[in-house]
Amino acid sequence: MWLTTQKRLLTKERLIHMNIQVEIIVCYLCQEAVLETNKHLSVDCEYATRVRTTLLSWTNTPIPTADLSTTLEMIKKKHWKKFKKEVIAARWEAMIYHIWKARNWKQFKGISIQYVDIVGNVICEIEVRIEMYKNTKRALRCRSFWHKLCN
Ligand SMILES: [Zn+2]
Repeated sequence: MWLTTQKRLLTKERLIHMNIQVEIIVCYLCQEAVLETNKHLSVDCEYATRVRTTLLSWTNTPIPTADLSTTLEMIKKKHWKKFKKEVIAARWEAMIYHIWKARNWKQFKGISIQYVDIVGNVICEIEVRIEMYKNTKRALRCRSFWHKLCN
């Protein structure tokens, strides 16, 4: 999960830095002819953007678009209750994980994952997480926030 932050993902950008030849310069997810950078995959990619905007409307918590570590920093500084921060941060982490997985499945297995399936998986994971913690003090303090998400 923290690999993106450490910029250790084997994107084409990194392979080029390592002098490994990269033949196709096309994003596996949006098919655009771009250099596949971490920034592209987490910010600019049309496919990732569709996932992100759908999930944003689900939680209704606008955050400026940025890479994962910047986003997590922004969440930390928000004046939200602790549990809400945890849920929103988990949503971003799950989103990045599933986008990265979709990209790898396309590259290594030739399988396309639809963006709606990513959205569904992220929502499912977050709901399970909320279910697990819903009776804790910190969750009860922002019940109105997560009640809306789980209905
Ligand atoms: Zn793309």
